[in-house]
Amino acid sequence: MFHYQAPSQLLKDKVILVTGAGDGIGKAAAITYAEHGATVVLLGRTQKKLEAVYDYIEKQQYPQAAIVPLNLDGAAEHDYTELANTLKTEFGRLDGILHNASLLGERKPIAAYDPILYEQVMRVNVTSQLMLNQALLPLMQNADQASIVFTSSGVGRQAKANWGAYAVSKFATEAMMQLLASELAELSPSIRANAINPGATQTNMRAKAYPNEDPNTLPTPNEIMPLYLYLMGQDSLSVNGQSLDAQ
Ligand code: NDP
Repeated sequence: MFHYQAPSQLLKDKVILVTGAGDGIGKAAAITYAEHGATVVLLGRTQKKLEAVYDYIEKQQYPQAAIVPLNLDGAAEHDYTELANTLKTEFGRLDGILHNASLLGERKPIAAYDPILYEQVMRVNVTSQLMLNQALLPLMQNADQASIVFTSSGVGRQAKANWGAYAVSKFATEAMMQLLASELAELSPSIRANAINPGATQTNMRAKAYPNEDPNTLPTPNEIMPLYLYLMGQDSLSVNGQSLDAQ
């Protein structure tokens, strides 16, 4: 496990957007960021799940969260512009983005992969990151220091049979992180971009990918949070363009 002990108020007064914040790792990250002082913007496609996370954060008396229901599959340019305008009005800046939402797609050989599903997986897992970054970079430039964290996977570094569009999307995610990191180093050095490979973690997606596995043998999302905190907070200011393992 990545070792890092975050100060209790590491993210005090930071505004951080988390995609796929309603479930799994995104939910744990949103709650953990709020616990460390951040105002989290919860983006996801299932409003009920986002509301449950919002309510939990309120009950714990962490800084009040905000909810953005958005299906990254159908989202159009105006949805991203609207999101940027809302965040600008509400907060005036953005200190962090965790690109976490993803679709698994189907576990099938390339020869049999449904091209429509392929495009859907690429839209949710990759294109939405481009759209979010383009819309939100100006707000991140208003922050003293800002962090963009992508979510990779083992199959985003070494593809394996039957991982299909998901593996392609995670290689593309690594590339987008590297592109952004090198461009930001030149143009906006106050913003950094890195990626996390969570490793096998107890979530619905993992259970769908490995139906025969006993989930209790895997770490929970809460257990892998040290790297999520490290990359979002000021102790990683000099880290840019890295793809790190949470476990
Ligand atoms: P989950 O399936 O548990 O959670 C994914 C989240 O993304 C859900 O909240 C889901 O919303 C949201 N999401 C999916 N599609 C969309 C969409 N079209 N628009 C908006 N939100 C969407 O997955 P994990 O928590 O396991 O995965 C989180 C990240 O970690 C992913 O990027 C995944 O690829 C990566 N990862 C996970 C591993 C693991 O072992 N768990 C291993 C390696 C990488 P909803 O709840 O409404 O479905």
